[in-house]
Amino acid sequence: MPLKSRQGSAAPERFRVLVVDDSPSIRHRVVEKLRTLNLDITEASSAEEALDLTLERTFDLVVSDVEMDAITGVQFCRVLRGDPGMADIAFMLLTAASGAHTRFWGRNAGADVYISKDDMDEQLLPAVEDLMKGRTPRRSRVPQLKGSPLARVSAVLDHHLFDVVVQSEVRRLMNYVNDRIEFGEQVLALAAEVIGCPYLVLHLLGPGGPTYSIRARGPWPQDNELPGMAALGIPEKSLGAACTTVERDPKFGDGHDVVGGPSQTYDIRVAGETLGALQVFGGVSTCGDNDMRSAELIADALGVVVKSLFLIEETRLLALTDGLTGLYNRRHATKRLEEEIARARRNNTGLCVAMCDVDHFKAINDEFGHGAGDRVLQQIGASLSEYVRRNDIVARWGGEEFLVIFSEIKLTAARIVAERLRGRLANTPQVEDGPEKISVSIGLSMLRPGITADALIEEADQALYRAKARGRNRVEVAGEERRSKPSTIMVRQAGESPQADEDQRHVDGK
Ligand code: GH3
Ligand code: MG
Ligand code: MG
Repeated sequence: MPLKSRQGSAAPERFRVLVVDDSPSIRHRVVEKLRTLNLDITEASSAEEALDLTLERTFDLVVSDVEMDAITGVQFCRVLRGDPGMADIAFMLLTAASGAHTRFWGRNAGADVYISKDDMDEQLLPAVEDLMKGRTPRRSRVPQLKGSPLARVSAVLDHHLFDVVVQSEVRRLMNYVNDRIEFGEQVLALAAEVIGCPYLVLHLLGPGGPTYSIRARGPWPQDNELPGMAALGIPEKSLGAACTTVERDPKFGDGHDVVGGPSQTYDIRVAGETLGALQVFGGVSTCGDNDMRSAELIADALGVVVKSLFLIEETRLLALTDGLTGLYNRRHATKRLEEEIARARRNNTGLCVAMCDVDHFKAINDEFGHGAGDRVLQQIGASLSEYVRRNDIVARWGGEEFLVIFSEIKLTAARIVAERLRGRLANTPQVEDGPEKISVSIGLSMLRPGITADALIEEADQALYRAKARGRNRVEVAGEERRSKPSTIMVRQAGESPQADEDQRHVDGK
């Protein structure tokens, strides 16, 4: 029997060391050295024999050769590291080869120390002492992976391969980072292949967020998906941005009211920054340990991929927006105006544009400085965005000029809205170290058959010019240039007529 156990006095405080090498002479050299340390030493001439020994008794340290037949020292190390019952055994690899590749692979397998046989005389004992520092001998361990040595190696390697394949599939999701909604669907399609839980939710923050993507395989409210979302803990406000895939699978229950259930959340992070989370819901079933492990694995691997999605979103946003106010820039506003005009014509709805220009802005800059001027522009931009409805578009058209596109609106309502806007901006709270009061002039124009986007803007510009000429801090409407005085603006009460109701809703804003 090749195994030779050298047990001295069975003092329980001695560390148990397993020395593995297929060369008896080297094994002998190692054991002779270790003997000076008062250790309980066991020898094995192959990793197979060593693996069997780990099922019979417990060790505190393994000193193993790397290059052996059948099962190598690195594979042996992987088996111990891959078994939760034995993962804490200290592991030292000894090798005749000193190549970077072997060294890397040994460390990757989880070896604590890697020593070249040439350096053994100087390094072996200090390394062992170092490894045992702060440890106490353990007298029992419960291995989780049982069976033949080869079966254990193959189970661990298969496990690793699974992880690597899942990670590489997650990296392939890079192909979808141009579109958040599509990305969300693809992430959950992959997750659903690996995780056997009925409800999966991907929560993303970042420039395009917060959004939620949902994949439901359990029972889902038929006609109205809102109760389902609420049960998954998704705030109502974000529902517009959520995408949902429902594919009913009887495996996950066919009863009612089981959306939700207990959930587990796995953060998606990169370099300490939280980018979102993957959430798995058990519904009526419970998610197994393997499901949880897979969810964690996917969430981990998603970090860099989601970061790429965010960077692309941010770059895109920077190209569309103005740095000072965060509003859409002129280029994007022009594009949006053309789209909105086409939509209005298709749906036969009204559309108005308001060109707003700050009065005597140059004087503000001159008196209070450029910084105060900038703050005024930011404040105006914020007020405009806050005031208009969600579907209206606000853009910074030029220096101190802002464009607002009101969609689905009649001229009557648009005048009232523009007038209110003027009044609101004239009452903008004072910015720090800025003017006490500001005002804006507004030119309004209305979409009519045959008019182009450029001509619509030009008409609003002309009306604005008139508003300036007529004393500023006022609204002028294109097509009313012959009127010498501005028309009185009446704010109708809701309920006067169906049209009045619709206008009033617009006037009342979002
Ligand atoms: P009016 O009432 O006729 O509109 O007069 P105004 O002074 O507002 O118009 P004018 O076109 O003479 O001056 C606009 C000023 O806006 C000049 C320019 O330096 C300033 N401006 C343009 N962009 C910015 C900016 O981003 N920040 C600041 N602080 N000032 C800006
Ligand atoms: Mg060998
Ligand atoms: Mg101005």
